[in-house]
Amino acid sequence: MTTAQTGATEYDARIRRAESLSTEHAFAAEFLNFYKHVAAFQKTLRANIAASSGVKLHDALAAELRSPLDLTVLLPHFRGFLSVIEQHAPAALAKAANQMSLLPSDSWIASLEAYWQHAGKYDQQVGAFAQFVPRAFLQPYAEFRAALTPKPPVVMTMRVCPLCASRPLLGVLRVEGDSGKRFLLCSFCSQEWEFRRIHCPTCGEEAEGKLPVYVAEQLPHIRVEACDTCKFYLTGVDLTKDGHAIPLVDDLAAVPLSLWAHEHGYSRLQPNLLGT
Ligand SMILES: [Zn+2]
Ligand SMILES: [Zn+2]
Repeated sequence: MTTAQTGATEYDARIRRAESLSTEHAFAAEFLNFYKHVAAFQKTLRANIAASSGVKLHDALAAELRSPLDLTVLLPHFRGFLSVIEQHAPAALAKAANQMSLLPSDSWIASLEAYWQHAGKYDQQVGAFAQFVPRAFLQPYAEFRAALTPKPPVVMTMRVCPLCASRPLLGVLRVEGDSGKRFLLCSFCSQEWEFRRIHCPTCGEEAEGKLPVYVAEQLPHIRVEACDTCKFYLTGVDLTKDGHAIPLVDDLAAVPLSLWAHEHGYSRLQPNLLGT
C-alpha cells in the first residue's frame, strides 16, 4: 500500500489544521472539533479500504470512479461511523445518526447508493444536512478511487470535475511564479483541476466587473468569489496568502463569509460537509 492509497498524511494534515483553526476562531470551534472526529474516522476507513482493495486494485484501475460501491468493504464500518456522529455531532445531526442506526441495513445501502450515483451532480435540492451521513462516510472511498484514476489532460474551462463530473466545492489559489494559479476542488472526490482566474464556474461569465470578490477581516486568505450574472458564489482559499491552509478544512471555518454571501443574495454552488 502506498501513502497515496491510504491518504494517511492528508488526513493527518486536515486534523492538525482543524485543531489550529479551532483555537484561533471561536466562532467555528464547535464545527471544527466535530470535524476532527469525522476526519479521524475517515482516516481509519480509508486505510481499511486500501488494505481490502489490494487484490482488486487492477479492477479498480479499470473502473470508472463512480462504478458500484464495494459494500462488503464498506458496510462493516457503517455502524461505527454512526456512533462517532452520535457521540460528537451537534444535537440535531446526532439524533439523525441515532435514527439511522435503528434502520435495517437495506436502508443504509439505499442511502449510500443514492448518494454515490447522484452526489455533486443533481443534489442542489437535497440539502447538506440530509446528505451529511452518506457524504462523510463515502468521502474516503471517493478519494481512494480518485487517487487510482489517471488524470485526464488539462482543459482550462471544465466547469465540472474531469474525473467524476461533479460540481466544484471550492476555488484554490496556489503559488505559481510571481502570482497564483487557480484550481477548482471537486465536491465529491476532492481532486483539483486547473481553471481560469476570471471565469464563473457556474455560468461562464468572464467580465471582471460582474465577478466581485469579498474578503473578511478575520480570515484574510479566504474569499467569496461571487457572480452578479448567475448569483452563485464559490469560496476561494488563497494559498499565496496562507501557505498552511488546507482548503477543505479552512472552508469549514469561513462562517462570516457564508453569512455575508447570503445577506447579499448569493447562493453557494455546492455546500460543504457541514452545510455552511
Ligand atoms: Zn471529482
Ligand atoms: Zn455566474
